[in-house]
Formats: sequence, C-alpha cells, structure tokens
Amino acid sequence: MLPRLVIHGGAGTILKSEMSDAKELAYKGALKDSLDAGFKILEAGGNAIDAVTAAIMSLEDCPLFNAGKGAVFNAEGKHEMDASIMSGIDLSAGAATGIRNVRNPIVLAKAIMQKSEHVFLMGEGAEKFAHSQELAFENDDYFYDALRYEQWQKIKATDTFQLDHTSEKKFGTVGAVAIDSNGNLAAGTSTGGMTNKRFGRVGDSPIIGAGTYANNKTCAISCTGHGELFIRSVVAYDISCLMEYKGLSLEEACHIVVQEKLVKIGGEGGLIAIDALGNIALPFNSDGMYRGWMKGANDYKTEIYS
Ligand code: ASP
Repeated sequence: MLPRLVIHGGAGTILKSEMSDAKELAYKGALKDSLDAGFKILEAGGNAIDAVTAAIMSLEDCPLFNAGKGAVFNAEGKHEMDASIMSGIDLSAGAATGIRNVRNPIVLAKAIMQKSEHVFLMGEGAEKFAHSQELAFENDDYFYDALRYEQWQKIKATDTFQLDHTSEKKFGTVGAVAIDSNGNLAAGTSTGGMTNKRFGRVGDSPIIGAGTYANNKTCAISCTGHGELFIRSVVAYDISCLMEYKGLSLEEACHIVVQEKLVKIGGEGGLIAIDALGNIALPFNSDGMYRGWMKGANDYKTEIYS
C-alpha cells in the first residue's frame, strides 16, 4: 500500500478577499511543513499513528492555528485544549479535554491511548498523567497570541462564544488522517475550542466518533467546525457507519454527512477523510478550509478556498 497523509487547519469563513499574499503564503508553508513532518515517517515505513501525531504536532507548534501555541481564549481568559487520536487497527483510542499548559495535546492523547488503561481523561487528571509521562509543559505566555487575545477582548463581555475569529467566523482546529504502508488507518484532532467558550465546555474534537474516528474496515476521519452540531451529528462515526452498513463509498458518505445532514441543522465546517483503499476526501460546507494532502515527496497539494 502506498502511504497517504491528509491534514486540515480548520474550516470557516476564509475568503481570498480578506487574505494578504503574505498571510496566504504563511498558511500554505505551515501546511506543507506539517505534511512533510508526517509523510517522512510514512515514507520510512513508520506507522499511521506516529505520522498523524507528527503532522499535528507541527500544526500545534505554529501560532497560526487554534491548537497548542495560539489556542483561543475561553470566557475566563484561559486556554483549555482538547485532543484525540484513534488507531484503525484495533479501535484503540486516547483523548484529553480541558487541559492547560500541555505543549502538545496530541502527544498526551497518544500517551493516554498507549500508556494508560483509559480512553478519555479530563483537566487536572489528564495533566497529572502528562506529568507522569514526562510530557513537555509550557507556561501561559507560550500559548498567548495577540490576535486571539484581541478576538476574545471583542466578545468577552457578551454571552456569545465564537469560532476562532469574531468577524471571520473561522475554526482553527487542526487534524490529520493517514494510511501507512501496511494499510493501517489513523486519525487525530487537536484544538483550543471556541473563543469565549464557557469554562468546562467540551467540543467535538476530543470525542471519539464525533470529531475523530478510525477503523481499518472503513475510514479515518478528523473534523473541524461548530463542535456542538458535530457532536449532535456524531459526524466521524456516521461516515464510517454509512460505509460499513450501507456500502457507500467514502465520497458518497462524506457528501451525505457534510453537505446534507450537517447543513440541515446549521452545522458549519468540514472534515478530512481517507479510506482503507487510500481514497481521500476533504469536504466542507463553509467558505474555506485550510487543508492539504501528500502521496509522495513531490506529489502533494495545499489549499485554502473552495
Ligand atoms: N470543532 C472545534 C470545537 O468545536 C472548533 C474548530 O473546529 O475549530 O471545539
């Protein structure tokens, strides 16, 4: 099997008219760095879980995206982050929610999957586990981003919570899905959630079946969008189910869920997907989605608009 990697850096109202050339170049460069980081592992015969982790770490370390460094502010002016990862081989999974100061939430999700007896840890308990695994921590300053702070300042007095931009309505969550040379699938997602979200709010990103899902029988999925609607639609698992029980192709299943079911309830966003044969799909119902795929060192694409 030829390995493949697909990534996203969030969907939303991303318009060319509002983007400078320099900004566009920076986003595309960051997407390419992430593809390189993950694909290098696949090319060397590494597994899909490690590739997904490396691709997401690269996006978490980049302040352009709402995950890790550059995560949005919640209603209390803090960064509370969520992440999850899943292996299609045996449906093993790991997730963390409401975590603070962990440099790379996806690494914590992976450690929960591989080194604990559990699937899902929250807040302080998850951080304690991260310490026990000697994961990297950073102080609050590390996560600070002037733009995110400004976004929060604009709406903090209101009751609304927003996607990662106030005027632009943009979700900056990051994710990756991969198939490795053994034909194994993996998916991962990492986010700071939504600006001004209530303390303790959990979105779809850390929820297995909603924001992330992988099953070697069907597909691997990572979502981005309005988390509440994605949870209610059990988006990632629904696509897998449509393939498994209804025999739909990846593309057909993605279309029904993203362009029909989500649209019907006002669920703005998108997802990235890869099936057991290596077919890929990157559907979204918003104006744009930061996204990219790689099938070989010189066979790749990064895109932003529809
Ligand atoms: N899905 C994320 C959440 O609701 C937001 C995003 O995709 O940016 O937390």
